Amino acid sequence: MADGPRRRIGIDLGGTKIEGVVLDDAGRPVVRHRVATESSRGYEHIVARVADVAAHLRRAAPTTTVIGVGTPGAVSHRDGTMKNCNTTCLNGRNGRRLREALEAAIGTAVHIENDANCFALAEASAGAAPARGLVFGVILGTGVGGGIVCNGAVRQGPQHIAGEWGHHCIDPAGPACYCGQRGCVERYLSGPAVEAHYAAVTGRARPLADVVAGFRSGEPAARLVLDEFLDRFGRALANVIDILDPDVVVLGGGVSNIDELYTLGRQAVARYVFNDELRTPIRRHQLGDSAGVIGAALLT
Ligand SMILES: [Zn+2]
Repeated sequence: MADGPRRRIGIDLGGTKIEGVVLDDAGRPVVRHRVATESSRGYEHIVARVADVAAHLRRAAPTTTVIGVGTPGAVSHRDGTMKNCNTTCLNGRNGRRLREALEAAIGTAVHIENDANCFALAEASAGAAPARGLVFGVILGTGVGGGIVCNGAVRQGPQHIAGEWGHHCIDPAGPACYCGQRGCVERYLSGPAVEAHYAAVTGRARPLADVVAGFRSGEPAARLVLDEFLDRFGRALANVIDILDPDVVVLGGGVSNIDELYTLGRQAVARYVFNDELRTPIRRHQLGDSAGVIGAALLT
């Protein structure tokens, strides 16, 4: 098969799955491949799984010399190890540098970027916010992340934490977080956080979709839980808008499919933003689950 010189490979290394894509020179996916991460089997196993995905994709792009990889955390500028990954075995307490391990296993250069930054880049380039200016991309899923794209480029920052709103505190007396702080945005706006809140109120575990259905049918406990969720969303996003005043906010991740975020959630943002109106568009993702992997490919 002919290999166009501008084919690009992206891989999204998640806690449960590793997904890869080859984009053609127009940015369209031509090959996709997905495997389970099997993260409980540890660091070397994950590296080997990513290398397997890369080998599969390179058959459709054999002359590719650099591969983009999205990860839950970020590369530390201090020593090149990973930090802030919720797949914690990837983090660099042992001094291992994931990029070097992947380059050795794959045989190409590797560019690593935070998965929320990949999401924001993809939606700013080809999705819900194809605009110049400043795009704030939010992932509301099993975790909460954020990424800033300015004039088409990811803003990393000198500490590689730009956009990381998931672990900023909106209540110092709030629930404890794995990061060591209390009351992080992630502890209120992630899917597991909403489900845990519902279980604490009712003594019953229900999946998020059922809690949303209960909210719509007027179930008191579901209303209490989702009213607080939407209020916390408003407060947390208003903080970001006050500081960045982005041209567009785009929401991704499974929790972003709750329609009320774009109506009641938006009203909550307007309540807390430091302005007499809220002009900021708050849009739903357009690339779905593919945004992360497409953004990873766009890094190259
Ligand atoms: Zn935290």
